[in-house]
Amino acid sequence: MVKVQPAAPGQDGWLLRKFPNSDKAVKVFKIVRVSGINCLLLGCVWCAYYAFMGRYELSALFVALSAIGLACIRMVRQADLRRGPVVAHGLFLIVTLMALIDSPSAEVPRSVHLFFLPLAVGSSFVFGAERRYMGNGFQVLCLLAFGWFAFAGPSGVDPALSPPASVRQVGAAANVATATALLGTILGIYRKDLMSRIPLAKDLGMAISDNQLRVFYQPQVNADGQIFGAEALVRWQHPERGLLTPEKFIPLAEETGLIDDLGNWMLAESCRQLKAWENDPQLSRVRISVNVSAHQLSGGDFNAVVRETLAQTGANPQRLMLELTESALANDLGTVRSTMENIRSQGVEWALDDFGTGFSSLSVLRSLPLSKIKIDKQFVHDASRSESGKQLLVKILEIASVMQMTALAEGIEDEAQRAMLRGMGCPQFQGYLFGRPLSLHQFETLFG
Ligand code: C2E
Ligand code: MG
Ligand code: MG
Repeated sequence: MVKVQPAAPGQDGWLLRKFPNSDKAVKVFKIVRVSGINCLLLGCVWCAYYAFMGRYELSALFVALSAIGLACIRMVRQADLRRGPVVAHGLFLIVTLMALIDSPSAEVPRSVHLFFLPLAVGSSFVFGAERRYMGNGFQVLCLLAFGWFAFAGPSGVDPALSPPASVRQVGAAANVATATALLGTILGIYRKDLMSRIPLAKDLGMAISDNQLRVFYQPQVNADGQIFGAEALVRWQHPERGLLTPEKFIPLAEETGLIDDLGNWMLAESCRQLKAWENDPQLSRVRISVNVSAHQLSGGDFNAVVRETLAQTGANPQRLMLELTESALANDLGTVRSTMENIRSQGVEWALDDFGTGFSSLSVLRSLPLSKIKIDKQFVHDASRSESGKQLLVKILEIASVMQMTALAEGIEDEAQRAMLRGMGCPQFQGYLFGRPLSLHQFETLFG
């Protein structure tokens, strides 16, 4: 049975940024792109028309609409929807202003208010129902505005404000066609998403009990290139779709709450593996890092889960490391901190994953029992391309050192990157240069 629990607050934006190629993200970006192109086209056409008519104040309104269109396209390009709420409100305001001017007459009905419908449906898909205001309240606002303009909006606005009836007729037809087409497109994407996710969520619910999940291990090396650790990364051996990488199912697991069971299974498997390596002269020195979702920390008693797992498997807690992303700190920080501290007192250390991609202040990070920060691969890539990127990386390494945390650079793909980071004093690395995530057998053969 699939448990349906909302994702932890603050998670959806992070999921889209972390997995920009996931099924959900691709569809979300499609909706934003289609809406952006529509705003841009409508904005340009009407802006040109009103400028031609010498109505510069109305022309300016459509310049603003074009700017909203460009902002949507930019967000898609950057795969970052953090400005989404501002853009959605900008659009709401422009549609409201245009609907006020678009007063109905005997020849032409009001039509601009129809755009509130795609705005309501599209924003509900983009922001997700777990966002209290942007996923629920904003849609109610759009529907109320739609209803008000449909039944009670102002009429008989000064004809000097409106274009001639013949132009308004063409405009109304264009508005009805565009708003309906936009709504249809968004609903189509919505339906496709639902149809593809329901069976996958059902399959994922059974994947753990049916033994379809696999742990892959990616080597982590020190400055001398010696493997001291491995990050445990989940894979799903789907009976029909083959071996799936996390971007195909982690966002779904986060949304449905299945991430708790998946994460606990990964923890148990990693601890079992640590125990199995205990007597091997080389593998016994490997420390396994396990990813922990914000969802695992925000609900239930994760401290007890870790204690029981260590007790049941007999794994040495000092060989285990837990990785948490900054997005988890958007939740109840007090609870997150005390859970982390309790687990730390069991002997398990914490690493902060994807450092620099969230919004946590340094004072918050300092207050947490973190031993390591993992510098996100984006910083490494930027540093290989620009001088300012390089300087930023130097500063991040300084911050890690001041906070007495070990720095590990993620996403090292070539020798030049490794040499650059070594030169900056970075002590630990992970990336394709040293090894991709490997099956257990492949990982063990690295040790001869
Ligand atoms: P992460 O924890 O930041 O893991 C590192 C990701 O970067 C892995 O992707 C890894 O394959 C990839 N990577 C490593 N070196 C390089 C490189 O040199 N270049 C590039 N381009 N990529 C590199 P993967 O395995 O697809 O995992 C993606 C994310 O899925 C992980 O990011 C983590 O956030 C999540 N994840 C994976 N396993 C689990 C799990 O068991 N539990 C939870 N909660 N999340 C998991
Ligand atoms: Mg990680
Ligand atoms: Mg990472």
